[in-house]
Amino acid sequence: MPSDRTAVVIGASMGGLLAARALSDTHTRVVVVDRDDLPAQAADRRGVPQGRQLHVLLSRGREAMEELFPGLTRELRDLTVPMVDLHGQVYWYNDGHLMAQAESPLIAAGMSRPLLEHAVRGRVAALPGVEFVPATEAVGLVTTADRQRVTGVRLHHRDGTETAVAADLVVDACGRASRTPVWLTELGYQAPAEEQVRIDVTYVTRVYRHEPHHLDGMLGTLTNAVPGAPRSGIVALQEDGRIAVAFNGVLGEQPPTDDEGLLSFAESLAAPQIAEIVKSAQPLTEPVSMRFPASRRRRYERLRRFPAGYLVVADALCSFNPIYGQGMTVAALEALLLRRLLAAGDAQLSRRFFRGSARLIDAPWAIAVGTDLRFPEVEGPRSLRVRFVNAYVHRLHVAATADAPLGAAFLRVLNLVDPPTALLAPKTVWRVLRGYRRGR
Ligand SMILES: Cc1cc2nc3c(=O)[nH]c(=O)nc-3n(C[C@H](O)[C@H](O)[C@H](O)COP(=O)(O)OP(=O)(O)OC[C@H]3O[C@@H](n4cnc5c(N)ncnc54)[C@H](O)[C@@H]3O)c2cc1C
Repeated sequence: MPSDRTAVVIGASMGGLLAARALSDTHTRVVVVDRDDLPAQAADRRGVPQGRQLHVLLSRGREAMEELFPGLTRELRDLTVPMVDLHGQVYWYNDGHLMAQAESPLIAAGMSRPLLEHAVRGRVAALPGVEFVPATEAVGLVTTADRQRVTGVRLHHRDGTETAVAADLVVDACGRASRTPVWLTELGYQAPAEEQVRIDVTYVTRVYRHEPHHLDGMLGTLTNAVPGAPRSGIVALQEDGRIAVAFNGVLGEQPPTDDEGLLSFAESLAAPQIAEIVKSAQPLTEPVSMRFPASRRRRYERLRRFPAGYLVVADALCSFNPIYGQGMTVAALEALLLRRLLAAGDAQLSRRFFRGSARLIDAPWAIAVGTDLRFPEVEGPRSLRVRFVNAYVHRLHVAATADAPLGAAFLRVLNLVDPPTALLAPKTVWRVLRGYRRGR
């Protein structure tokens, strides 16, 4: 491997920052480009509109980020971020059934999305050889004359000038705005096959001042949407005594953004604690709405030809229905994969990375899309397996009202700690069937 190597990451959001961390082990220079200004404080920015919506960092994602940035959990704690036992300190109303609680090692971090990005950006900026190029849009790739290898990126700066930066490796972390399929076809390659599952989610997030009596002292609550009742809500305690409430509708159901409407929406949810907060807590922000049309997966691993020196990561590769809170965790797991692959050399890197990340994405994709297929309005193939799993998981939710280990098994899968098949272990199946009969 040459000693002087440059990597360019397009996109300085969570996917790009985590990739930059992975690249910094094997590249002497890592240039991270973003079309936004990158604020010195934790602040919303235009390129990440979802940053104003409630985000939860799953337990597995927090662990993966801790592996990439040792001490990050403590740093977040020092910034008053609550660490939340997802089984012991959260009310889960799954299909309307309140899960029995128990202490667990599933510790998620509750913070605003800008705060997490700010903390991680600070860590990345402190790495040797990393430089940020804000207010700059990547507008195309530079390649060798035979177009077999990407050798850099063309950049358009806010002042109107254009330059190019040379690189041994370029990583597209542009999120859903990724233009890689277009750039590939311009270079004579095929665009990847794309899978889309329309769910038409609308989020409305509002942040309130937290008071100790909220949630009876718990740190969060969740309800899910079910066929016939396409509404759900999530509450999460965050830094600085904030408590964020996300009101969600699927399949075109739109949560309102006025006080009265929000309260009646909250009152229609299975978790009574949500309406209690809306009724009594002091709002710190206006309600902010955002639509998310469809989960989308691009199958780069199936392409026969792909230029060397180029990768696509995070939401640009696959973006999930956000209700399941998986995006940042999957981005962190991809960064760990990339770091591991690079340590073994960069021969066939794109092939190895896309295959590895496809394996990694399979489980969260199956969870998000498989669960969405419970709604008859959602289009997509419903294999016997999908139908069986959905019917089974509903029974698990009923049984988990009185059987905490079942709740634990479910949460380990949801947090990407265990594969979904873990729920089909004989002992678990037996408990589900027994508990469902009793619970019903
Ligand atoms: C409503 C909502 C709620 C969510 N909730 C959760 C949650 O609870 N938990 C969770 O883990 N995930 C959640 N997610 C997903 C999460 O936000 C993403 O997975 C995560 O931000 C990683 O995305 P990314 O970095 O790939 O892309 P993005 O966050 O979309 O960032 C892309 C970046 O690329 C830049 N960019 C784009 N094009 C260019 C270009 N041509 N040149 C230069 N820069 C460019 C943009 O400015 C931006 O900074 C949620 C998403 C949504 C929509």
